[in-house]
Amino acid sequence: MSENRETELLASVPDGLFIGGQWRPAESGTTLQVHDPATGALIKEIASASPADGMAALDAADAAFPAWAATPLRERAELLRRAFDLLQERKEDFALLMTIEMGKPLAEARGEVAYGGEFVRWFSEEAPRIQGRYGQNPEGTGRMIVSQHPVGPCFLITPWNFPLAMATRKIAPALAAGCTVVIKPAALTPLTTLLFVKLLEDAGLPAGVVNVITTSTSNAVSEPIIRDPRLRKLSFTGSTPVGQALMEQAAEGVLRTSMELGGNAPFVVFDDADLDKAVDGAIAAKFRNVGQACTAANRFIVHRSVADEFAARVTERVQGMKIGRGTEDGVVIGPLIDDRAVAKANDLVQDAVGRGATLRTGGKAIDGDGSFFEPTVVSDVQPGSDILREEIFGPVLAIIPFDDEDDAVRIANDTEYGLVSYVFTESLARGQRMIERLETGMMGLNMGVVSNAAAPFGGWKMSGLGREGGAEGIHEYLQTKYTLTPNP
Ligand code: NAD
Repeated sequence: MSENRETELLASVPDGLFIGGQWRPAESGTTLQVHDPATGALIKEIASASPADGMAALDAADAAFPAWAATPLRERAELLRRAFDLLQERKEDFALLMTIEMGKPLAEARGEVAYGGEFVRWFSEEAPRIQGRYGQNPEGTGRMIVSQHPVGPCFLITPWNFPLAMATRKIAPALAAGCTVVIKPAALTPLTTLLFVKLLEDAGLPAGVVNVITTSTSNAVSEPIIRDPRLRKLSFTGSTPVGQALMEQAAEGVLRTSMELGGNAPFVVFDDADLDKAVDGAIAAKFRNVGQACTAANRFIVHRSVADEFAARVTERVQGMKIGRGTEDGVVIGPLIDDRAVAKANDLVQDAVGRGATLRTGGKAIDGDGSFFEPTVVSDVQPGSDILREEIFGPVLAIIPFDDEDDAVRIANDTEYGLVSYVFTESLARGQRMIERLETGMMGLNMGVVSNAAAPFGGWKMSGLGREGGAEGIHEYLQTKYTLTPNP
């Protein structure tokens, strides 16, 4: 990858806030620095919003709302469709930018552009299908009209791990529904959102419909927005503790909220599983994004009779993984997002091994520039180990043996989270029992990756509230009105 191309691409990314259709510096002139996690190098300095900038963004979203809500559905759809088409033209730029600012290997970044783009296309198709109903009430004394309306200005907060998809998954349904937005991307990876909003501008976005605030002072800027009565919806993707704190702030205005929070996904391999499929599924579910996904398999719960063979086969695959900067050919393990993430992976492995787990491969940070951790397999993880309770968010595959189906279900459900579960079995009846018994918002049955723009993404229990994608996704940004009228 030529350095020139990277320099040109970075120079093309706006470095300001986007408020009311204008790119501008922060009111105070404050900036924040963005680094490449593979090298630690500074790659760009951009505006860092103050609370006053946040308010200006909300003012703009509020002012733009009536006209956008009244814009015909087809026009909203066409804006999104143009954005989808432009994203296809510029897909290599977006992929490279994500690799530079977030670290994921280029092949995966291309996958994210495809996946993230699908939300734009899907919601461009959903916009004209917003409908209501009309009918007699059961008593025959009147006619009932049920209509759908955009909720109003929305505040969207996204994490660093999927810089494009997390933004499109929120912006596209909001715009399709007729809402205006203020989006705050993660301070670690703000550039992809800035470039995407520039693309929306090129697609003909009216002023004020999308506003971007990048900031290094998340809470100070967000709280006044969340507490402002003009805001009607908060959509957050990130960790459960931050989600809980934001829900408390949102309670003041009884704000609509969508919460896509943490996960602790079980990956259950039964003795009747096809081990080839299970190993392929495990590698995808664990090492995609270097394990930094809310949907990453966290606990590999494997029947005792196949646990050893499963561990040996995943270990062999892991030992063949190429580690490096995501722009290098053949790299599948890029850096973690920062040194804190490396320290966390290290602590979890040390704790598991200290309690009796077997370290099969990996287990250490890699010396040198950037935040790298070896892809790791630990087996025979003992109950009570931290790795079974906490989101690992790193390339560590932890195996726990089980003895029978009830045991597997008990271990799988033994977590406060309920985002996604993976089950590998060749028995249809067993697969169906797992669909009924696992406490989970999503499930991969003999599949290691489940996300799709056409499907309702979201969790049970402390993994969150609401759904993104699918027919459900647009309803997060619509509110229902029921009207009773006399019989004609
Ligand atoms: P995080 O909770 O630390 O931060 C998420 C975002 O919130 C970031 O943009 C951050 O700047 C911002 N933020 C933090 N504190 C804030 C505050 N007080 N006010 C306003 N904004 C604040 O999470 P993270 O480390 O960026 O992301 C990883 C987490 O996200 C994991 O727990 C992962 O499971 C979760 N996640 C969930 C999904 C899902 O769809 N369920 C998808 C991706 C990531």
